[in-house]
Amino acid sequence: MKRTARPWCALVGAGPGDPELLTLKALRVARRATVLLVDDLVSDAVLSLVLRGRRPAPRVVHVGKRGGCNSTPQAFIERLMVAEALAGQRVVRLKGGDPFTFGRGGEEAATLRAHGVEVEVVNGITSGLAAATALGVPWTHREHAHGVMLVTGHARDGAAGLHWPTLGAAAAQGLTLVIYMGMSHLPELQAGLLATMAGSTPAAVVQSAGTPDERLCVTTLAGLAADARSAGLGSPAIVIVGDVLRARAALRSDVRQAA
Ligand code: SAH
Repeated sequence: MKRTARPWCALVGAGPGDPELLTLKALRVARRATVLLVDDLVSDAVLSLVLRGRRPAPRVVHVGKRGGCNSTPQAFIERLMVAEALAGQRVVRLKGGDPFTFGRGGEEAATLRAHGVEVEVVNGITSGLAAATALGVPWTHREHAHGVMLVTGHARDGAAGLHWPTLGAAAAQGLTLVIYMGMSHLPELQAGLLATMAGSTPAAVVQSAGTPDERLCVTTLAGLAADARSAGLGSPAIVIVGDVLRARAALRSDVRQAA
């Protein structure tokens, strides 16, 4: 009897956008795809690298919102992944940043496994890390931070969001707060954090970290929403709050001294 390969799907992290930040494994696995489902946060440069020289080219399906269109419903994406994998296609879901850092990779993996599809996950550099590095700070700089909290500023529909004053109280103990999906609720999260954190706490927004369109706004918690708005920053962006941003000034003066 002919053995058929087990249905397979990979969730591959495309990193923040710079193709040189793609891992070797991500590139190797993504290039095995016969069907490639591409997230809106995956850069064109990364996609070109994955497709370069592929003959025949994989079928590329763009899932996600671009240019103001509605995003593809998650249930549709999951059904498509399952159906293609069960039909014998090598399905690769190329996701921005890291597939298991927000972005619903966990739900996708669970659905695939429930349908008997083998799931391979390849990590990528998450945009929060790329944002901290774009600001020139080590996010766990030991003089300023005991750790890092990655949080979402956008609660799941119907779910209670984070209690920002409680989070602020924890962050004030020396944790770097890295906020994903925070731009649409910036005034609310700022007000909540200000209940327990000093207005002078450094804060920054990094839009399109790790891409040629990268833009930064460095300010304080008190100025966060107003300064981000007047700088014209919007999604996709990471908000970073914490004393670790003071390392930025120190590093810069070190650089100047070294020069
Ligand atoms: N899995 C992704 C996160 C998906 S959630 C990762 O690991 O990076 C989507 C959110 O990620 C966006 O709302 C934004 O907050 C952030 N994001 C993704 N790519 C980004 C980028 N290049 N620059 C800044 N923020 C980004």
